[in-house]
Amino acid sequence: MSVMTVEGFDAFYGRSQALRGFSVELRGGEVLCLLGRNGAGKTTALKAIMGTIRRTAGRIVLDGRDLSALPAYEIPRAGIAHVPQGRRLFAELTVAENLEIGLSTRKSSRRALDYALGLFPVLTERMNQRSGTLSGGEQTMLTMARAMCIEPAVILLDEPTEGLMPSAIAGIREAVIRLRDNGVAVLLVEQRVDAVLPVADRVAFMDHGEIKARFTIDEVRNDLSLLHRYVGVG
Ligand code: ATP
Repeated sequence: MSVMTVEGFDAFYGRSQALRGFSVELRGGEVLCLLGRNGAGKTTALKAIMGTIRRTAGRIVLDGRDLSALPAYEIPRAGIAHVPQGRRLFAELTVAENLEIGLSTRKSSRRALDYALGLFPVLTERMNQRSGTLSGGEQTMLTMARAMCIEPAVILLDEPTEGLMPSAIAGIREAVIRLRDNGVAVLLVEQRVDAVLPVADRVAFMDHGEIKARFTIDEVRNDLSLLHRYVGVG
């Protein structure tokens, strides 16, 4: 049973079509990775799910509830969290203050904060530290923890490993696995295939606003030429 179904999203920037019939299904506790070259439409697809860009066609259902007509500000409350590209933290605020902002999105409680911190235990030691002084990997974890304060069923992650050192990438990978193990459905956008192979259950390749092919991670592992064919690496 899928927790989130997205069907037939079309979206435009001016006259240029950025999404063409974009469809995905996600089950709880699985990681679907969206791969594709620069400009393929991956970021646009996440924004369309969040309702922050206008769709001209398509529907979205979460846990049996049709969210298609909801305004963008209702989407996180309905249970979909988004960690956009680049770390949008309030650098002058502490870790604790940044998390409070996450808690205010939904009527969240101490329990939600404990849940988010349980997923990212490294943050518990740094609650009073200014966010701007965290390492890159810790900042990424803080943005993910802030998103998890709404206890979402689905989390959309846009290139969380961008600009991170290999050791920090390993930390993010572990964090994604913890989310998955807690039953969260993860839609992960990445450029770096090596960052996703260890965590993804399924892969969808995007090009020109469209999903061109879908594979299980075993299919990709058994035929790495697929990566070359669809994203020009591998
Ligand atoms: P990247 O990894 O480089 O972010 P992406 O796959 O996420 O790539 P998108 O950012 O979704 O790609 O962009 C898809 C297409 O839409 C590109 O051709 C891009 O130039 C265009 N585009 C994105 N945002 C806008 C915008 N605000 N106005 C006009 N065109 C845009």
